[in-house]
Amino acid sequence: MKKKIAILGSTGSIGTQALEVVKHHPEEFEVEVLTAMSNASLLIKQAIEHQPNAVVIANENFYPMVKEALQPYPIKVFAGNDSLCQVVEMESIDLVLSALVGFSGLKPIIHAIEAGKHIALANKEPLVVAGDLVMRLASEKQVYILPVDSEHSAIFQCLVGEDLKAVEKIYLTASGGPFRGYTHHELSRVKKEEALRHPNWKMGCKITIDSASLMNKGLEVIEARWLFGLRPSQIEVIIHPQSVVHSMVQFSDGSIKAQLGLPDMRLPIQYALAWPHRLAAQFPRMSFVDNPTLTFEKPDTVAFHNLGLAYQALHHGGNMPCILNAANEVAVVAFLEDNCGFCEMSDLIEHSMQTCSFVSEPTLEDYIQTDIETRRIAADYLK
Ligand code: NDP
Ligand code: MG
Repeated sequence: MKKKIAILGSTGSIGTQALEVVKHHPEEFEVEVLTAMSNASLLIKQAIEHQPNAVVIANENFYPMVKEALQPYPIKVFAGNDSLCQVVEMESIDLVLSALVGFSGLKPIIHAIEAGKHIALANKEPLVVAGDLVMRLASEKQVYILPVDSEHSAIFQCLVGEDLKAVEKIYLTASGGPFRGYTHHELSRVKKEEALRHPNWKMGCKITIDSASLMNKGLEVIEARWLFGLRPSQIEVIIHPQSVVHSMVQFSDGSIKAQLGLPDMRLPIQYALAWPHRLAAQFPRMSFVDNPTLTFEKPDTVAFHNLGLAYQALHHGGNMPCILNAANEVAVVAFLEDNCGFCEMSDLIEHSMQTCSFVSEPTLEDYIQTDIETRRIAADYLK
C-alpha cells in the first residue's frame, strides 16, 4: 500500500525537496494534496507532474489561474486559508507534511491531527507557539508527530530502541550561521544580503534570517522540549560550524549517540515520510577523510540575544513562546524590508515579551489572540 501524502507548502524549500524524495520512491508514496501561497505557476507544474487529488492556493487572487490551468485534469482546486484546514481532513490522506512558514501552519496541523492524520513536521513554529496543546491533541488522537527539522530528526533517530527515561540531555547543534564570531557592534551593521547567505544550508528566507540571528536555534530548543518531553535544563545548544553532526543524545550512563551526514534536508524529509522504515537513497555520502575536523564551541548568547530570549520564553511558559514567535515573525519581515536593523530584531522581541498580556494556561483562542496582540505591539514599536 502506498502512503498517501499531503504536502502543505509544496512550492517552498522543504516542499520541493519532499517532492524529489517522493519522485524517487514511486512504489512507496503517492501525492494526495499540494498547496502554495502565491507561487501559482510552480503549483500548477507540480500538480500536472504528480497528479494529486487536490491542490490549494492560499492566495485567492491566483485561484482563476490555477483553476484554468488544471481544468483538463481530474484535480480539485481550492483557494484560501480555510481550505488548507479542510483539505487536510480528506479521508484518503495517510500523512500530512507541514512545510508552511510560521504561525500560519498552526490551524492546519490542528485540523489534521483532529482528523487522525500522522504529521511530518518541518514547520516548527506551531510547536513553539502551542506545543502543549499540539502534543496533547496528538496523544489523544494517537497521531505521530515525526520531526523533519534536521536536529530533531537526528535526536529521533538516536532514540530508536531507547527508553526516553534514560535520556540525560540532548545537544542541539547549530552551524552558527554567517555571523559566527561577530561582536554585537559588528552584528548591528550587517545587511540582509549577508544574512541571507547561509554557509551550509539553502532554505526559505524566514528560516535563513532566523539561522543568522540564532533565533532558529531558540525555536528549535522549544520544539525539542515538546517533541521529546524534556526539561529546558536537558537541552543544550552547541555550535558546530561544519553541520555534519546533526545533534546528539546523552544517556544516563554517560554514553552519547550522534547522527551524522552531509547537510541535505532530503535525508530527514525521507526519514519522516518513510518512518518506521529506512529507505535507500543515493544522497552524497559523508567522508570522514574529506571532513577530518569537526569542531564544537559554546554559543555567544550576549551578542546573539535571541537565543537567550527563547530560553527565557521557554522558562516563563504559558503564552510567552507565542509572543516570542509572533514578535520574531514581525521582526524578520521588518529586517527584510529594511525597516529594522539586525540587533533591533532582539529589542523588538524583548519589548513585546515585556508588553504583551501574559496568559499562564492558554487555550487555542488565547494563542490566536496573543499572536494578534503581539503583532500589533511589534508594529507600534517599529513606527
Ligand atoms: P519556504 O519559504 O521556502 O516555503 C514555504 C511554503 O509555504 C511555500 O510553499 C509557500 O508558498 C507556503 N506559504 C508560506 N506562507 C504561507 C501562508 N501564510 N499560507 C499558506 N502557505 C504559505 O520555507 P521553507 O521550506 O524553508 O520552510 C518551511 C518550514 O520548515 C519553516 O517553518 C522552517 O522553519 C522549517 N524548516 C525548513 C528547513 C529548510 O531547510 N528549508 C529546515 C528545517 C525546518 P509560496 O511558495 O507560494 O510562497
Ligand atoms: Mg534545524
